[in-house]
Amino acid sequence: MWTASRHKAGRFPMVAYRSFSTSVQKDWSASLPSNVRIVEVGPRDGLQNEKNFVPTRDKIKLIDKLTNTGLETVEVTSFISPKWVPQLADAKEVFTSIQKKPGVRYPVLVPNLKGLEAALEAGAKEIAIFAAASETFSKKNLNCSIEESLDRFRQVTEEAKKHQVSVRGYVSCVAGCPFEGSIDAEQVVRVTCGLLEMGCYEVSLGDTIGIGTPGDFHRILQALRPHVSMNALAVHCHDTRGTALANILTALQYQVSVVDASVAGLGGCPFAPGATGNVATEDVIYMLRGMGIDVGPVDLSALIAVGQETCQLLGKNNNSKVAVASQASRVRRANL
Ligand SMILES: [Zn+2]
Repeated sequence: MWTASRHKAGRFPMVAYRSFSTSVQKDWSASLPSNVRIVEVGPRDGLQNEKNFVPTRDKIKLIDKLTNTGLETVEVTSFISPKWVPQLADAKEVFTSIQKKPGVRYPVLVPNLKGLEAALEAGAKEIAIFAAASETFSKKNLNCSIEESLDRFRQVTEEAKKHQVSVRGYVSCVAGCPFEGSIDAEQVVRVTCGLLEMGCYEVSLGDTIGIGTPGDFHRILQALRPHVSMNALAVHCHDTRGTALANILTALQYQVSVVDASVAGLGGCPFAPGATGNVATEDVIYMLRGMGIDVGPVDLSALIAVGQETCQLLGKNNNSKVAVASQASRVRRANL
């Protein structure tokens, strides 16, 4: 048994233990990507699930604060009909009012050609389109079958390319669907390949209801590997059952190097009662930096502060464990 007294007795000198640990860590981390790109989705995926309308000025402030922390990709909003998502009815005003920092990417979600037109008018340089790996989810979320959605998105992608706008794809429900239950990995392969073939530069695999485990991600990535470059994939893990970080680690072991995350873990899924938001960006950054992975210049303390302010504004609990721990230690220090 490893105890402090044995350690003090010198049986395992601290220096030797540390060097052992470091060499093991080097061998292990050599098999992981050295850089990971974080895609912050809180302002879109997080806020779209809020019941009460978040004032436009607060959305703009949130996005500006997020980019000021050093985040390099922030998904801003969705150019979707306000009939479907009233929370994001101010997409144009939000997109045109945020500060556009050089080098930062500001993708927006687009459901169809009409949405693309609005996004182009607002000056978007990058859009995201979203298909599902489940027929029922596709019908509920997009009002059409998977095949019909791919046809629709093919037109959107062709039009976007004419305007030099890059297109990112999402596949929802890769690990399970609130209506159909488990989803066949071959279905994920079919939709992912469809999106890449039409010209998406990257496809984000969404565990929309946070039901997946590392076993599911292993199964899905094994199925995808013969067909798709791992460089063209991202993961989008909701943390409903506490498995998001483990799922991300599994994806990193497959050399996936793009991770979606939401500040303070904001979000949910309207079709899955009880589904929580994306994994918290703070927690992903903490874990990846602890593993020696470069996640860019983001200031984690500043990000924790932005998450905390946003939760106060929305009257929500902070779902970032790192933020909660950092708040608790701040309170303890103040009381010493
Ligand atoms: Zn999501």
